Amino acid sequence: MNIVRNKTKKVRCGDIYIGGDSPISVQSMTNTDTRNITDTVSQIKRLEDAGCEIVRIAIPDMEAAEAVGKIKKSISIPLAADIHFDYRLALKCVENGIDKLRINPGNIGDEDRVKQVVNKVKEREIPIRIGVNSGSLEKSMLEKYGVSSKALVESAMKHVRILENLDYDKIIISLKASDVKLTFDAYKLLSEQVNYPLHIGITEAGTIWRGTIKSAVGIGSLLLNGMGDTLRVSLTGDPVEEIKVGREILQSLGIRRFGINYISCPTCGRCQIDLESLTHRLEKELNGVDSKISIAVMGCSVNGPGEAREADIGIAGGKNSALLFKKGKVIKKVPEGEIIDTLVEEVKNISK
Ligand code: SF4
Repeated sequence: MNIVRNKTKKVRCGDIYIGGDSPISVQSMTNTDTRNITDTVSQIKRLEDAGCEIVRIAIPDMEAAEAVGKIKKSISIPLAADIHFDYRLALKCVENGIDKLRINPGNIGDEDRVKQVVNKVKEREIPIRIGVNSGSLEKSMLEKYGVSSKALVESAMKHVRILENLDYDKIIISLKASDVKLTFDAYKLLSEQVNYPLHIGITEAGTIWRGTIKSAVGIGSLLLNGMGDTLRVSLTGDPVEEIKVGREILQSLGIRRFGINYISCPTCGRCQIDLESLTHRLEKELNGVDSKISIAVMGCSVNGPGEAREADIGIAGGKNSALLFKKGKVIKKVPEGEIIDTLVEEVKNISK
């Protein structure tokens, strides 16, 4: 079943696009000190290798804004700058080739400063992401609505209107909360009002295990309901994990394919092969193989053949052996000790 995606505007960000019919991109944020160019570039390289498509860096001061030029030269994915209040940092980042700004115009100060930033981004059509976070809602919103979806949306819309009044529409919006339901309601409310592309995620989701579950539930619900044009999984840990999780969320919904799709059964008393270690070893052996096929690793001949037939390649375990399926047909019986080598060989043949 295809997911019907909301129709949003398409905005360019470096050499990729966000929104419209462009693929839902996966992004992350470095956790190095941006002023340390060597560390920052090396982390971005690791993120690129993991499949990151946009990377954001924090710009706390002018030295960090100055580093943008050098960082940009050493990386190959679009670079976004995270700026809080200081419009001068935004101007400097744009001068140094930044591809996207994350800044809330309402926090910059007087109108002249906002105009300076908008005029500058207009020259290169650099998008601005407006990001509202439930933890930093303005007092007026909290007094009016409390911490709620209405408060998040109205706060974001205030920033949106500032840019629209300056005739700028290369806008991306995020509304983040660590509460999944609040986040969902806020994006839903917002998407009924605007068609700007949405950057989605569950903020401060937690450590890798908990954060992965929370993000999968939150981001997954949004995506299933057609919302989201780019995503970031926020985890307390190595940002490379954020990319892995983000890609797997998209892959599990069939929205994008990044590599082999594994199907494996949970095993039960019917299983007569060591399916768990077999599946782990197979994933390890095929790590990095860029093939968009599906492999079903099933424990027995009860439910096994059905799944194994649906996949491009599959096995259904028997007594110390397995039946090998290819494109729905049984090819041969393989002894347990040869299952991995046989599957790897088959994948390589298909991928040629
Ligand atoms: S495929 Fe077979 S072994 Fe695996 S869970 Fe189903 S019945 Fe059990």
